[in-house]
Amino acid sequence: MSDHIFKDAIERVKRIGSQANVSLDVIDSLMHPHATLTASLPVRMDDGSTQYFTGYRCRYNNLLGPSKGGIRYHPDVNRQEVEALALWMTIKCAIVGLPYGGGKGGITVDAKQLSAMEIERLSRAYVRAMADFIGPDTDIPAPDVYTNARIMGWMMDEYETIKRVKAPGVITGKPISLGGSLGRDDATGRGAYLCIKQLESINNWIPKDKTVAVQGFGNGGYHVARLLHDDGYNIVAISDSQGGIYSNKGFDVESIYKGKQETNRITALYCKHSVCELVAHDVITNEQLLELDVDILIPAALDGVITPKNVNNIQAKNIVEVANGPIVGEVDHIIQKKGITVIPDVLANAGGVTVSYFEWVQNKNGYYWSLPEVHNKLATIMEDAFNEIWHISINEKVSMRDAAYMLAMRRFDKAISAHGTQQYFSN
Ligand code: NAD
Repeated sequence: MSDHIFKDAIERVKRIGSQANVSLDVIDSLMHPHATLTASLPVRMDDGSTQYFTGYRCRYNNLLGPSKGGIRYHPDVNRQEVEALALWMTIKCAIVGLPYGGGKGGITVDAKQLSAMEIERLSRAYVRAMADFIGPDTDIPAPDVYTNARIMGWMMDEYETIKRVKAPGVITGKPISLGGSLGRDDATGRGAYLCIKQLESINNWIPKDKTVAVQGFGNGGYHVARLLHDDGYNIVAISDSQGGIYSNKGFDVESIYKGKQETNRITALYCKHSVCELVAHDVITNEQLLELDVDILIPAALDGVITPKNVNNIQAKNIVEVANGPIVGEVDHIIQKKGITVIPDVLANAGGVTVSYFEWVQNKNGYYWSLPEVHNKLATIMEDAFNEIWHISINEKVSMRDAAYMLAMRRFDKAISAHGTQQYFSN
């Protein structure tokens, strides 16, 4: 999949761009990543040997501001994947109206095989390689798959050591004690939850009647499941990289999270205070989870999980893409024909970059906000973006994904037109 991911992302831009009624200059500008740096990262391992890892950083587009996007640690990371993810960040930041372009980074590594000290040395090596490529006003990284607040803290520290300045705005998703923002930890899941609440109000849903399956129980997946469960939604299936569990009675999300923290596995637990017991459930694979007949399917792990191979078996009525790129572009039309409502990744997971933006603003001002302030500002941005996209989707009879891309492209069109398009210069 990864080899095709960038091509797939570009094809989607071309297809939607042709209907968006924007200058060709917009589509052309989205075809070409501005710059991608690939670096070899030497790391001293605990046994004394030196291993070389490959790191990437892509600054895809900076039309609307400095590029912004997470850093992923995963064995499948490659240049095409990083560039596709950076393109999606470009679209996403424009949709929610942030003064950012899109970027992304990653290291090809199985982080589970490394000790904590090796991960620290690897993270610092990444910043040493990228120090002249990233910066608070040029390109601002953040966490993604298998990276977290502690890693962001190490990276900020390394950057500040190299540059001999305090520069907390160089990276977001940091620990609160090192300049992070309140509310960044659950922002991605909360943003998706806010989108689902909009669907709930449009469709008059009663939460307890709605079933939800969540693939991936990390930062994004856990928080959206927790917030939905707190509202009464029935979370019937949860999985991680090792597989999943299903029960039509639903699970207590907090209990499963507690079990995962303790054993690093998804276990069907119900806990009252410190006493936990196993509840009746079926063990399912990640493939089975995706094909469950549920009201809301939330892919919250990796890209490319709904493909021509399984699209005909998908039974969910709504799909909320917390992961980036879980549905490949070539099946967009089949999903639409099946009548499935998709809240696309570029909207559904935009809560993360939105609170990252709040963190950057707070770092620049040296003035920090309360949690309710962060939650209120996030809710306003997510609800406005959802409603704008919903209206384009209804008025122009297109899917939510197409509407989201159209909204972004029309914003690029205004910025590009201000500089002058081919049409302007040729007249
Ligand atoms: P994470 O590392 O916190 O969690 C990833 C989860 O996915 C883990 O539970 C892991 O076990 C599971 N997983 C990994 N491989 C899997 C597989 N093959 N099948 C099923 N589960 C698998 O990562 P995250 O930050 O929650 O990111 C998840 C997705 O959300 C990614 O696509 C990421 O790009 C996207 N996203 C994250 C953020 C953020 O702020 N963290 C923001 C926007 C988008």
